[in-house]
Amino acid sequence: MSRRDAILNGTARASQLHEDLGLKNRLRAGDEPIDVLGAMASLDIAVVFKPLKGLLGAYLRVPGAAGVVITSERPLHVQRFTAAHELGHHVFEHPLSTDSTVGYAARGERRGYDENELEADAFASEFLMPRWLIAAHMRRRSYTKQDLFRTDVIYQLSLRLAVSYSALCWALYGHGLFAHDQAEQMASREPKGAKQMAAADVVPQTWHPDVWALSERDHRSIIIGGPEDLVVLELEEHSTAGFAWDLREAKALGMRIRADERVVVDEEAMGAAQKRRLTLEGDVQGILRLAERRPWERNGQPNQSFEVRLDLHGRERGGMPRAQRAALRKTG
Ligand SMILES: [Zn+2]
Repeated sequence: MSRRDAILNGTARASQLHEDLGLKNRLRAGDEPIDVLGAMASLDIAVVFKPLKGLLGAYLRVPGAAGVVITSERPLHVQRFTAAHELGHHVFEHPLSTDSTVGYAARGERRGYDENELEADAFASEFLMPRWLIAAHMRRRSYTKQDLFRTDVIYQLSLRLAVSYSALCWALYGHGLFAHDQAEQMASREPKGAKQMAAADVVPQTWHPDVWALSERDHRSIIIGGPEDLVVLELEEHSTAGFAWDLREAKALGMRIRADERVVVDEEAMGAAQKRRLTLEGDVQGILRLAERRPWERNGQPNQSFEVRLDLHGRERGGMPRAQRAALRKTG
């Protein structure tokens, strides 16, 4: 099999699985990433996280059962790409595979390649970052193809797709949106500048955690991040009419407020708009709800509301996937 055929196979099988699981229809609003662990659960693949030494993941198959082990020691985005790679081995019915690296195929680096690994890598990239899903997330935020040459745009898109910044650069190359040298150049840029841009005046202890720049366009989105991430909300506030965003529910959910300021933002179409910029953080899971109210109408109908579903627990730390444990607790 040629290298090109292996990549085409991987891509085609990922598209087929999107179809089989009804994902294209479910995710067309561009408000959530692919739930790779959920897909694996629906295919009865047992997944467990363990502190693997020198390995990212492994796929094992015995008659009648299939299992995947993923390292508990790497960031969430690496865990998710590894999970998608092992899912690729499963759909191709490959034999046992132990993986110390994943994602090389997408970067065009695997010389002397193993065709199973190429198929699994191409599958993983397409499963997590199909062109239609990237397009849906871009549409929701009115990003153009030209915007894809901005580090901050790629970075914010990668967060919403719950993939690493460089994985998204290489997926865009795979989709023909970047030339090879453009992908290389974009992938080599540190997203630190994009984090600083999103964080504005707030300086975190280190720049390792992510910084989410959320606006009205993220209303009802699913945000999958880490416990030290900064979540920066910039929402229009009708303060001249006496309205203000009410933070009681955010605090009740366990979010800490790192910064709270009122800013005037120039918007191309509408002139200057008054915005409230809130910088929040917290190791929480749940729905973050904010309501814009007049302070003297604390329990009245809000003028507008904003909500996002947060999962800020970060990487899986061991054992079964968290979502599966939570489902068992509910049924048990
Ligand atoms: Zn592999």
